[in-house]
Amino acid sequence: MDTATKTATEITGVLTDMNRMGHEQVVFCQDEATGLKSIIGIHNTVLGPALGGTRMWHYNSEAEALEDVLRLSRGMTFKSAIAGLNLGGGKAVIIGDSRKQKSEALLRRFGKFVESLGGKYITAEDVGMGTRDMEYIHMETTHVTGLPEYMGGSGDPSPVTAYGVYMGIKATAKYLWGSDSLKGKKIAVQGTGHVGQYLIGHLVKEEAQVMVADIFEDRLKECIEQYPVEVVDANNIYDLEMDIYAPCALGGTLNDNTIPRLKCAIVAGGANNQLKNELVHGRQLIERNIVYAPDFLINSGGIINVYGELSGYDRKTAMQKAEFIYEVTREVLNSASIQGITSQEAAMQFAQNRINAIAKINQTR
Ligand code: NAD
Repeated sequence: MDTATKTATEITGVLTDMNRMGHEQVVFCQDEATGLKSIIGIHNTVLGPALGGTRMWHYNSEAEALEDVLRLSRGMTFKSAIAGLNLGGGKAVIIGDSRKQKSEALLRRFGKFVESLGGKYITAEDVGMGTRDMEYIHMETTHVTGLPEYMGGSGDPSPVTAYGVYMGIKATAKYLWGSDSLKGKKIAVQGTGHVGQYLIGHLVKEEAQVMVADIFEDRLKECIEQYPVEVVDANNIYDLEMDIYAPCALGGTLNDNTIPRLKCAIVAGGANNQLKNELVHGRQLIERNIVYAPDFLINSGGIINVYGELSGYDRKTAMQKAEFIYEVTREVLNSASIQGITSQEAAMQFAQNRINAIAKINQTR
């Protein structure tokens, strides 16, 4: 196969993937001078501009980077839709080692590509990027969120994320036990990072019995210095007798290995992509009589926070908006139970219904 034929075949593959996942536009950006290799995925702009962070990662192949940007940008569409925001779903990836290959020139070149989309895509921080990097991107485009507070940005989103997760946990408790009080409930928080620690603050205040695990001693130390919590072994967290398991570390912790071990009634936490396989593991949780609060719904406080930047940021308003997660979680869980589907499927339905309804009003003059 010569190069021309090969390229054509690959392009057909990308379009097929976009069609399968429902993407509107995928933009490939490269710049020899700075070494920039980036892909911007715009999944859906029915509700508004596609907002989602930029991830810089040392992908093994361009195909892997493409798959990541397609999956992540699609996820943002549903997260913003269910959060009631007028935002579409987008995400960008920069291929490379963020510790070695990142430079002011590369980031500013990326900013120029973002600017060229005229606001259709708005970027933010993600893995491998920090607020300083956002400042460089901001030198070339105004379509950036997640800027530091001293630049008029919204700063660290994790207090708002954690508050939304707390609302989601309470709503799930209300659905299952008829009361949203968490007093005396045994709750295991996996990951005492940004979201985990703010969440623990709310749980402790409500006199829950909080158990915590982390793989880093310094994170645990920081946590136990502030809160009366019990430290548990990170490897055994799934085997504990507990009422609620709150994953606040990495994704994929609900899988074939862990679900059979869980002895809790509720899974509700801040981590993204908790279900290793959405369909299979969502169903496995139902079979084990465990109620699952969909992650992209209850951790949407982060995007709610960043959204505030578009119209003049105010932390109090962001917190108030995150409170709506309580009601939506209850509606989603009730709907899943009535329809006999997983809570993840019900949450996706809510998001898709909102997109479909707004698409119709967009057609009217
Ligand atoms: P973070 O890096 O501050 O915290 C994650 C913590 O998890 C770290 O302390 C890490 O040591 C720990 N950890 C990693 N693997 C572990 C394991 N196997 N067992 C126990 N602990 C482990 O990250 P964060 O900002 O708190 O985000 C946590 C999760 O929430 C991530 O999945 C993130 O994508 C998601 N999330 C965060 C936000 C936000 O506002 N920060 C918003 C939405 C979703």
